[in-house]
Amino acid sequence: MNEQSTAGAQEELRAQAAGAENLDPREISSRRFREATAHVSGLKRGLIDFLNSPKRTIEVCFPVQMDDNSVRTFQGYRVLHSRVLGPGKGGIRYHPTVTRESMAALAELMTWKCALADVPFGGAKGGVVCDTKSLSEAELRRVTRRFITELGDDIGPHTDIPAPDLYTNQQTMAWIYDTYDVLHPGRNNRAVVTGKPLALGGSLGREDATGRGCLYVAERFIARGVIPELSSLDGARVVIQGFGEVGAAAAQLFQMAGAHILAVSDSQGAIVDDSGLDLGTALEHKVVHETVVGTPGTRTITNEDLLELECDILIPAALGGQIHGGNAERISARLIVEAANSPVTPAADRILHAKGIQVLPDILASAGGVTVSFFEWVQNAANERWELDEIHRQLSRRLHDASDTVLERRERLRAEVASSTDDAAPETITDWRMAALIAAIERLARVSLQRGIWP
Ligand code: GLU
Repeated sequence: MNEQSTAGAQEELRAQAAGAENLDPREISSRRFREATAHVSGLKRGLIDFLNSPKRTIEVCFPVQMDDNSVRTFQGYRVLHSRVLGPGKGGIRYHPTVTRESMAALAELMTWKCALADVPFGGAKGGVVCDTKSLSEAELRRVTRRFITELGDDIGPHTDIPAPDLYTNQQTMAWIYDTYDVLHPGRNNRAVVTGKPLALGGSLGREDATGRGCLYVAERFIARGVIPELSSLDGARVVIQGFGEVGAAAAQLFQMAGAHILAVSDSQGAIVDDSGLDLGTALEHKVVHETVVGTPGTRTITNEDLLELECDILIPAALGGQIHGGNAERISARLIVEAANSPVTPAADRILHAKGIQVLPDILASAGGVTVSFFEWVQNAANERWELDEIHRQLSRRLHDASDTVLERRERLRAEVASSTDDAAPETITDWRMAALIAAIERLARVSLQRGIWP
């Protein structure tokens, strides 16, 4: 068999193994939720159903005039999962994989993220089905303005507050603000969206907040001595899938903390330098060539092979579902830090747990973005600007507290499972994800009951 057909056969095996797993995002989030609620006491059945269901789902369809004068129809969604803790909060993504189900699952994830970071928001998520690479800047602007107009009063500074997500950025947020402001003149509308450019009321520290959150959470867990054979980030070998806003920031911050970044990637492929990448050169190459592939002094591999590189820390910072039942067995990191939303599937969780690979889950590790979004929202309401030091101080405090909550909840979870005599109880893996989810659900359930079922 030549090299190419071997790679082809491997790819097929991988697809088959992954195919055996149900990768429906709603099914995954409901399954995890069910497992977690088995460990939350005092929850009535009806309340469990309520906490697992999206509160509101909006689906819109709208035409946009393209640059060549043709007209294209776009499909958009905004799902508000919960308003128990406060207004809905979550990103808007522009991607071909946007579906009603994936938006619902990601909105629910935002609810747990906000609850864990103690941010007074509920979860939401939205998106437009499109490939931004095939759209011009003017087309993207028209898509954004029309989508936000369709959402009308279903977003607002005190109802549902969007933010950047996959393939949306500060410019998209500026258009969202401007569109909403034109529709609602005569008041301070800055808090309708976060992740804005600084000049429009954006916050210092928002751009690298998700990557920085990964750093703070990883440092906290390592400092608590819970990652065997990893006593600090100094000299740690780190591999990052993705080199967008989150991946590139994580790469720079982990490198500044003393780690060697062995590999990064984008949708075109991955680059590796076993002695540590020169990130400045990779960034420059990406600006000029729109990809990191071909950065001088690096070798190119596939995104799939990047995940299997031997390293201390693997940071998936791209799409969901990347580590699944088909490749988890071949992952050889000590620690996975989920910078993306939902990059590891339930089947992979079990395999990684059995292999002793720890996973710091998305609802904790990637909560930095929404936390600084909350700071931006507070600054907007008060027409203030906080210093960067203040942002970093408050971000680290919240994420350290959230990490400690998860560390403590897992101790209790282990004790509960060890002393359980209920043979019918579903088999629980006592990993960080389960502990984080239980802690988040408990917080939300407590507030739900304190507010009382209405009327
Ligand atoms: N899209 C980011 C996330 O998934 C940020 C959301 C926000 O800032 O509201 O966490």
